[in-house]
Amino acid sequence: MPLTRDVAEEVAKQYGVCIRPVPLKRLDTHTGAWEIIDVPCGATLETKCPPCAKRNRHLRMAQCREGWHLDQEPTITPNEPNDEQRWLIEFRADVQAQRDQANQDTTDLDELIAGLDEEINAAGMRGNVLGRTVPKRNRSTRRRQDAPELPKRKMINSTLGRTFESANGKTYRPSLFVTLTLPSYGKVNNGVPVDPDSYDYARAARDALHFSKLVDRFVQNLRRVAGYDVQYFAAVEPQKRLAPHLHMAIRGTLPRAEIKQIAATTYHQVWWPAADRVVFDGDHLPVWEDGTGYLDPSTGEVLPTWDQALDQLDTDEAAEPLHVIRFGIQVDVQGVLAGTPDADQCIRYLSKYLTKSLGDSLDPDDQAQRDHVARLAEALRFEPCSPTCPNWLRYGIQPKGAKPGMAPGQCRSKAHKPDHLGYAGRRVLVSRKWSNKTLAEHKQDRRTWVLEALGQPNEPADPHRYVWKPVPAGDANVPPLAVRLLRSVHERQRWRAHMAQLQAQADGQDLSAIEEGAA
Ligand SMILES: [Zn+2]
Ligand SMILES: [Zn+2]
Repeated sequence: MPLTRDVAEEVAKQYGVCIRPVPLKRLDTHTGAWEIIDVPCGATLETKCPPCAKRNRHLRMAQCREGWHLDQEPTITPNEPNDEQRWLIEFRADVQAQRDQANQDTTDLDELIAGLDEEINAAGMRGNVLGRTVPKRNRSTRRRQDAPELPKRKMINSTLGRTFESANGKTYRPSLFVTLTLPSYGKVNNGVPVDPDSYDYARAARDALHFSKLVDRFVQNLRRVAGYDVQYFAAVEPQKRLAPHLHMAIRGTLPRAEIKQIAATTYHQVWWPAADRVVFDGDHLPVWEDGTGYLDPSTGEVLPTWDQALDQLDTDEAAEPLHVIRFGIQVDVQGVLAGTPDADQCIRYLSKYLTKSLGDSLDPDDQAQRDHVARLAEALRFEPCSPTCPNWLRYGIQPKGAKPGMAPGQCRSKAHKPDHLGYAGRRVLVSRKWSNKTLAEHKQDRRTWVLEALGQPNEPADPHRYVWKPVPAGDANVPPLAVRLLRSVHERQRWRAHMAQLQAQADGQDLSAIEEGAA
């Protein structure tokens, strides 16, 4: 009944309720009862529904505000894993097993895994669930990527910036808001290349694919120059010309000229095998042989594996990096003081695009822009996006973890999708010691606050009370979506009624913020 479902979805949206809930089975070990629980998509999936995206944005704003002008070192101590963390890990393990067994398209599972990894980190657990499975490669010193010309201060063990005292004894805590862009690929007018033929789409594509590594290098250099453990909260957004750029709130301050110097000197080399000479194309594609891997269709020769290709690259003294990425000359540095309207405006700016995907800013009626998007997508089509990308077959190399059924130009990673514009990384980058809290703890904070406001105890629950399991697709115990949405709406209505009651009692007390937290 699609109509019922549409209506239920509209109602759910009005109430700020998740419209794509993920059903999970939960065993209550105290009672022995199994129950199906709807978890908001925002807690598991990378792509969030509009109500979850909105809630996520509010949480991110709180996180950004809390960390920016911190005046004491954050204490980062690992806590006992809680219920949420435990089910995330168990669920993640289950999905990984499904993915490993899958012979066919794993795009959906990959998206789920990426979302879970993000959520696991947000829930306060560090690192990758799988850990490092291969030893890190040693590069020859020739390929080290430091910038020796930058000034270097002696490192102090602090994440806080300098403060300044005014004549009347007031302490000021200045910080920075920095915007970094990529270089020009050709003249643009209103975001569209003036001459598409000379616009460097190939470079634009590679720059977008490797942008997050350039940001990592910038932070490394920034810390070396600043001489303290600089913390940041950053958001990646598309410019009108479709290149990613970065807005970054930085705790503490540095001279403007130094930030510009760091941006100008920072670069990242992509040490991947060459991908400039097409070896296999059209119908002439590598063939899979079980137990062996991909073979040259004419000679039957086994293609080099990813590791072999990297070994070869390491020993080749004349090898050049596949790509070198740098920032453009447009660097904007703004000084910001704690608690000023400027700071608030920057925080809103940083979270402005969080409810949208990179491609959402595109205008469907703008033909010139659509052509521009199509040309960029074409440039990304055969560009290897990662070591596991099937496009490596085009250049005569077996992708890492090669499987049967791979073909160049058919990578399903989001890096190649037109609405991702080549950038497949995280949209929000928050350093580890930004605030005292993880995103999950921010969520917990708001819940505690609401419960206290309601006069309800918020006792720590038994962390081992529940066991979570994913629900297989098509499970008959899961009610239709419309029913589940309306159930959530009903819950939300009960909350609102409770709020209204409290409002009447408290009379005049501002409860709107509390309701926000309850969402
Ligand atoms: Zn949702
Ligand atoms: Zn790819």
